[in-house]
Amino acid sequence: MSYDREKQVAIEAAVAAAKLCQQVRRDIPEAIEKKDKSPVTVADYGSQAVICKALEDAFPNQPVVGEEDAIQLRQPEMVEVLTKVTNYVRKLLPGATPEQVTGWIDRGNGKVGPRYWTLDPIDGTKGFLRQDQYAVALALVEDGEVKLGVLACPAMPVEGEQPGVLYVAMRGEGATMVPLAGGEPRSIHVASREDRANFRFVESVEASHGDQSRQNAVAKAVGIKADSVRVDSQAKYGIVASGQAALYLRLPSPKSPDYREKIWDHAAGAIVVEEAGGRVTDMYGKPLNFADGTKMVNNRGVVVSNGVIHDRVLAALQES
Ligand code: AMP
Ligand code: MG
Repeated sequence: MSYDREKQVAIEAAVAAAKLCQQVRRDIPEAIEKKDKSPVTVADYGSQAVICKALEDAFPNQPVVGEEDAIQLRQPEMVEVLTKVTNYVRKLLPGATPEQVTGWIDRGNGKVGPRYWTLDPIDGTKGFLRQDQYAVALALVEDGEVKLGVLACPAMPVEGEQPGVLYVAMRGEGATMVPLAGGEPRSIHVASREDRANFRFVESVEASHGDQSRQNAVAKAVGIKADSVRVDSQAKYGIVASGQAALYLRLPSPKSPDYREKIWDHAAGAIVVEEAGGRVTDMYGKPLNFADGTKMVNNRGVVVSNGVIHDRVLAALQES
């Protein structure tokens, strides 16, 4: 089965959302605190509104499992924030009302099922706020398998051009990258066995999202000598997929041992790496499970590699 129409709609939606995020960031966004204490911005809401609206128009019966919802945004004390979100959305969708915006955001309250979209409207909100990396991540999952992934990284450097890269992958069709500013998509591939120059590893900027001392020990154990490159968001998957690093390690943080990874933090990135020739598993070598719910309760940690070193990494993990 081909997913050409889904791909076209997803790309257009993610590119529009990335524009909105870039605009908000030029205006220096403020952090709003969510109930779980994590930050959200007008761009997270605007991005989810724009993408859910596009998916509603094109595929009205397909659920979207998005990170955000509009419960907090509908509170009376949030009226100024909602006005701001609406104003940014109107730059792309003239005439949009606050009621429509909250309605679109809440289209992201869908459930995991046989066919669903999953969306992180801004993955790496902390990076977004720091003026570092972040990503807009959208994936289509069918029968537990990611079929399509679109990952916009608006702050990813591009040689000789404005920053911003779009990674796209369809199951069985390979992975591509293209500057967000436009151009011809080019095929990407993970680093080969011979590519020693890119034999490095990436991990989160946020130390509390992983176990950096163990991650570094495992990387050393497989022969990676360079210090880690710390990057926010699923941009790390783009970096591995395009061969600029051979490994991305995300091991459970000792500070939050009960944390479970969320589907929207991995689905789009995972297919981009797999279609670029790499491998993605949890720390025990199990495939990431996108079939059961928003939290990947049956997985622990995430290991992303160029494939060549994957089994060695898993073995080193067992010994560490
Ligand atoms: P990164 O920039 O790769 O660290 O990923 C950002 C994502 O980390 C956010 O979207 C959160 O969903 C996720 N996150 C939050 N807390 C944790 C945690 N304790 N362990 C792993 N990931 C987390
Ligand atoms: Mg996220």
